[in-house]
Amino acid sequence: MSQIRLTAMAVALSAAGFATTGLAQQAQRPQIETTKVDGTDNVYIFRNGNHQSMFIVTKDGVIATDPIAYGRPTGGQDYIAEIKKVTDKPIKFLIYSHHHYDHIAGGKPFKDAGATIIAHKRAKERLAVLKDPNTPLPDQVVSDTGRTIKLGGTTLELKYFGLNHSDSNLVMWLPKEKIVFVVDTIPVGSFPGRGFIDIYPLETEEFIKKVLALDWERLIPGHPGQPGGRLGTKKDAQDILTLMQEASAEMKKMGQDGKCWEPAEKDFKLPKYANWPGYENGLPLVARRYCGLWGRGT
Ligand SMILES: [Zn+2]
Repeated sequence: MSQIRLTAMAVALSAAGFATTGLAQQAQRPQIETTKVDGTDNVYIFRNGNHQSMFIVTKDGVIATDPIAYGRPTGGQDYIAEIKKVTDKPIKFLIYSHHHYDHIAGGKPFKDAGATIIAHKRAKERLAVLKDPNTPLPDQVVSDTGRTIKLGGTTLELKYFGLNHSDSNLVMWLPKEKIVFVVDTIPVGSFPGRGFIDIYPLETEEFIKKVLALDWERLIPGHPGQPGGRLGTKKDAQDILTLMQEASAEMKKMGQDGKCWEPAEKDFKLPKYANWPGYENGLPLVARRYCGLWGRGT
């Protein structure tokens, strides 16, 4: 009896130890951080908590992306203050990656500073209906054929590759720097999570193939890559594509055998990915989405 108690206590202490270590690591990491992408003299990552966005400094001004200020009332100003530490050039553009508020709330200070806000046309349609007071509407929209932005010697390609994590994601590609900024659709080094809630599963496979076909070497994700906030590679993108194909195949038979939502969601496992960060939390979300696809038809 006493031995069982001791064992239980040891397990509890060890679990507490892990939790403390995790919290300590989080505490060491500042809430806001700006880093220049290695090997470039113009591309920066602005991180606020667990969100991040890219900004590009040119001799004629700054191209900023996602304000990432949802639930962070001063987040937009904080982002601008970080840009001002790097350059005194005006912020010419603010580009929304897609319509989700956790990435694009907080754009007003950019608009007040004179930036032109750009997004995919369906992002504007969705935002116009919801009228979120924290998220100004885009001034200009991009159609499905995309758009090229040239500023101060930098070329930024805005690509639309069809339905994916949302119906409004723009892939932002710097061809000269061989960098791509892709938000939510291709997690780097972690198992998919909330980004899967309303994803378009089959279309996303095609989306990732189109991203892979672009000429780039590094991928900046909208949430810091694992481990250590690293950037992604083409292997990371291919790994997510493979994961999706395997998850889809795993659920397909159960869905078509009439097992969704139960017991399919409980039986769904992807043991190959069990050691990936986020597996435990993400697995039920991935299961739910593929059960929807193969068990309901959407
Ligand atoms: Zn999103």
